[in-house]
Amino acid sequence: MKTLGLGRNEVNKGRIIAGKAIARTVQKEIAAKAARLIQKGIFPKLGIILSGSGPSQIYAHSKERACAKVGIRVETVDFPADVKFEDLKKRVEKWNREKSVHGIIVQMPLPDKVDSARLLGLVDPAKDVDCLTPANLGMLVAGRPRFLPATPAGIVELLVRSQIRISGQRVVIIGRSEVVGKPLANILLLRGKRGDATVTVCHTKTRKLTEISRGADILIVAAGKPRFVKKEMVKHGAVVVDVGINQTDRGLVGDVDFEDVAPEVSAITPVPGGVGPMTVAMLLSNTVAAAAAQTGEADNAGI
Ligand code: NAD
Repeated sequence: MKTLGLGRNEVNKGRIIAGKAIARTVQKEIAAKAARLIQKGIFPKLGIILSGSGPSQIYAHSKERACAKVGIRVETVDFPADVKFEDLKKRVEKWNREKSVHGIIVQMPLPDKVDSARLLGLVDPAKDVDCLTPANLGMLVAGRPRFLPATPAGIVELLVRSQIRISGQRVVIIGRSEVVGKPLANILLLRGKRGDATVTVCHTKTRKLTEISRGADILIVAAGKPRFVKKEMVKHGAVVVDVGINQTDRGLVGDVDFEDVAPEVSAITPVPGGVGPMTVAMLLSNTVAAAAAQTGEADNAGI
């Protein structure tokens, strides 16, 4: 199998969309933008709120490492698992006020007893680089996004940089979560090369899922079900994007049965090394864009 996305000359010859390689390219572009801001005395900075052990620690630390690579400063505050809501709120409000902090992340999952939706709602939308506040999601739905949420933006960027046309295509998304399916559908409906798609969103109550998914030119799967999509669910020659990350006794697998589906499709993302690396890259991009916007250097914003 060949790899898509390594260079313009390989367009349409390959099959595996090289998320890792594309993410590296994006990170280089972000580092150059961060360097231009730093030359002007603007030091892009991300604040991460963390509480509890487990996956949130792993996610936060991988973001810290990625920030360091592109020249973004990071401050992580690691609260104990029994933290009070008021303490988390105070930290959000402090960073909302501080000019030196340009982006704020509330790392999920938080301990169960914390009202994470309420906490997220307190983040200044100008610093909400995860694009999870109702204000920023509203702007996306209104067709005037301030930021694009990281995972959906990463998916679209992967397609664009692999020269896969989105405009006019029939895109089916399996999964309607607030972090992936729903915002992704809204990005794909924006006008322009990242959008203009005909979008169908499926979920657990969808009837005749196979019939619908087989109609997709581009099938994007974010169901959280290991190897859920088999070749019967995919049209011959379609593009398949696998968002799933599932830890199984056979290691990390996606929501798509890769071995079964890959021979049927024109392009497919692997797991790991597909959407995952792009998610972090898009967060870095939003943070540099936020720093630029907050300091009147908006021309340096975005990727
Ligand atoms: P979620 O559990 O919040 O939502 C899953 C969605 O899939 C729901 O809307 C549900 O209705 C739908 N679904 C589940 N089973 C279905 C079925 N049998 N038929 C039709 N629809 C079905 O999950 P999420 O947060 O959107 O994440 C989805 C997957 O993507 C997970 O594996 C997660 O780990 C992964 N993920 C990856 C990244 C990344 O950076 N690569 C980021 C976020 C999530």
